[in-house]
Amino acid sequence: MRSEGKTGVVVLGSTGSIGRQALDVIEQHGDRFRLLGIAAYNETDLLEEQVARFQPRVVNVTDHTAYKALKARLPGGTELTQGMPAMCELSALSGADIVLVAVSGAVGIEPTLAAIAAGKRIALANKETLVAAGDLVMQQAAQRGVMILPVDSEHSAIFQCLAGERDHLHKIWLTASGGPFRGYSPQQLRDVTVAMTLKHPTWMMGPKITVDSANLMNKGLEVIEAHHLFNVDYDAIEVVVHRESIVHSLVEFTDGSFLAHLGPHDMRIPIQYALTYPERMQSRAGRLDLAGLGSLHFEKPDLVSFPALDLAYRAGKAGGTMPAVMNAANEVAVSAFLGEKIGFKDIVEVAAAVMEKHRKVQAADLETILAADQWARQQSEMIIQQLTAKRV
Ligand code: NDP
Ligand code: MG
Repeated sequence: MRSEGKTGVVVLGSTGSIGRQALDVIEQHGDRFRLLGIAAYNETDLLEEQVARFQPRVVNVTDHTAYKALKARLPGGTELTQGMPAMCELSALSGADIVLVAVSGAVGIEPTLAAIAAGKRIALANKETLVAAGDLVMQQAAQRGVMILPVDSEHSAIFQCLAGERDHLHKIWLTASGGPFRGYSPQQLRDVTVAMTLKHPTWMMGPKITVDSANLMNKGLEVIEAHHLFNVDYDAIEVVVHRESIVHSLVEFTDGSFLAHLGPHDMRIPIQYALTYPERMQSRAGRLDLAGLGSLHFEKPDLVSFPALDLAYRAGKAGGTMPAVMNAANEVAVSAFLGEKIGFKDIVEVAAAVMEKHRKVQAADLETILAADQWARQQSEMIIQQLTAKRV
């Protein structure tokens, strides 16, 4: 269904890095898109600005204090709701055609499933949803005939390289920038600070994914994401470090041919493609200057300094609730690192320790996945407390 002849869009996580860029794309193509609903955690000032700019029908916040603060400030035509059940209702909003899931973390699972159940097309930035609940999400999308368009730049690249040639795929090659600590030894990584970690060489992103990118956990999450999106075995997914972030990923076919997707590193391109697919439209992103670039580099990832990548392969191959557990433990550990409670290298150690304790459930339903996620969060908190107690 179309609203005023335009494609109706709901953006979950509208105040984040992806969300803000998505709103710029929607504004640029205002003749084609209408923003019907937005959701965030608690960024009230920015939400108020976004409401003034787009007049969405519904705004959802998770935080109760933010809800009370916004209540008095929003204009009459905009409905304000609070909490997860209401975010799921927003995902199913009548008149909305596409739901862009750009919240950070496993909190994206339920609204994604709600949007699928309502038959909305999904533009998926939130990789944690596929990591934790990929089997379930892909199964329900297939049953409901819903398309999931990847926003993550690597997966958008692979999606485009695979158009029409799925049968002859040999391998997927995910590129990784290597992050700010490419070339660091395990000893050097012991002392890196939060400020050093938040300086990503090529991408400007939210804090959680920036930390994930620095220890290669992000690439590990993306391996699991690719496994679900493209229904490819883990043995056919490879990671290669490419520091320029110009080749966004590649596919290798049975005859030895590779197809690569290149472009400027600007997330507005994959965001827009997920919204306009199968069409392409003008973008405000810059253009590539190939001769100016001169050369592109590729190298093997350093699995000794960055064990998170291997850990993610292990979680993915184990399947069932294991990836949900790794993801939840990682979310808690990243947040503890950002709060300067634990060190950089502790992040992956916390995730590994929680996985070690976990008794995996194989074909897991939503309730089981959410229970595993909660269990992993509690276990991680306990391990972090022990770690910090040791240091005092
Ligand atoms: P940000 O941290 O910049 O933004 C996160 C957004 O989610 C904010 O709008 C935030 O609201 C909202 N949010 C967080 N927690 C909750 C919650 N519990 N309930 C409701 N809303 C919540 O993250 P990014 O935009 O960088 O990343 C978003 C997702 O996209 C992640 O899954 C990431 O892995 C993925 N991604 C991001 C890329 C990037 O370039 N940034 C690239 C590829 C994938 P508030 O502002 O109020 O806190
Ligand atoms: Mg990515």
